[in-house]
Amino acid sequence: MSITIALSKGRIFDETLPLLAAAGIVPAENPEHSRKLIIGTNRADVGVVIVRASDVPTYVQYGAADIGIAGKDVLIEHGGAGLYQPLDLNIARCRMCVAAPVGFDYAAAVKRGARLRIATKYLLTAREHFAAKGVHVDLIKLYGSMELAPLVGLADAIVDLVSSGNTLKANNLVEVEQIMPISSRLIVNQAALKVKHDILQPIIEAFKSAIK
Ligand code: ATP
Ligand code: MG
Repeated sequence: MSITIALSKGRIFDETLPLLAAAGIVPAENPEHSRKLIIGTNRADVGVVIVRASDVPTYVQYGAADIGIAGKDVLIEHGGAGLYQPLDLNIARCRMCVAAPVGFDYAAAVKRGARLRIATKYLLTAREHFAAKGVHVDLIKLYGSMELAPLVGLADAIVDLVSSGNTLKANNLVEVEQIMPISSRLIVNQAALKVKHDILQPIIEAFKSAIK
C-alpha cells in the first residue's frame, strides 16, 4: 500500500516541509528547481504530486491523491465535497479582505447603498460576504493580479488575500474590510482515510504534534 500527497509549489511546499519531516517524510526534490510533477520521497510508500494550489482539493476529492494541503480560501471555493479536513496546519497564514484605491470612500459608498463593482478570484467568498452585509455588487471574475483592476477602472474594489500589505501599498490600494483569517488545512480523501488508515493515521498524528 502506498499514498500520494498533493502539494502546490511555493509557500505551501516550503511551509509543509517541516511537517513532512516530523512524519519522517523527506521529498527527493524541490519542485522549485525541478520540472517534475511527480516526486519521490525517502519512503517507498509515499509520493508527492505537484499541482496548482486551487487544484489540490480536486485531486484529493477524486482520490488521485490521498491527502493534500490547501488554503482555506481554496477550500471555500471548491466546496469541500468528498474531503475530510482534520487539521488546520496554521501555515501560509494571511487574510481575505476587501481593498480599494486610496481615496475611494468605501464606507460611504456602502452607506448610501451604491452598487459596487468587485474584481476577485474568490467569487463564492465575495458573494457571501457582500450578501451578508446587504451590499449590492457586480462580481468580475479574474484569475490573478486583482490589484490592477481598480487602477484601470475595471472595478471599484477587490476581494483578495493580503499578508504584509506591501502589494496593496505598491498599487495605491488600502484594506477597507477584513473578511476572514486564512491558513492552510490538511485534507484527506474520505475513502482513503478508511482503506489506507494504517499509513495515513500516523502521518496525521505527526502533523498534529508538529503544528505551531
Ligand atoms: P498560482 O500562483 O498558481 O496562481 P496561488 O496564487 O493560489 O496560485 P500561492 O500564491 O502559492 O498560489 O498561494 C497558495 C496559498 O497560499 C493560497 O491558496 C493561500 O491560502 C495562501 N496565500 C496566498 N497568498 C498568501 C500570502 N501573501 N501570504 C500567506 N499565504 C498566502
Ligand atoms: Mg499567488
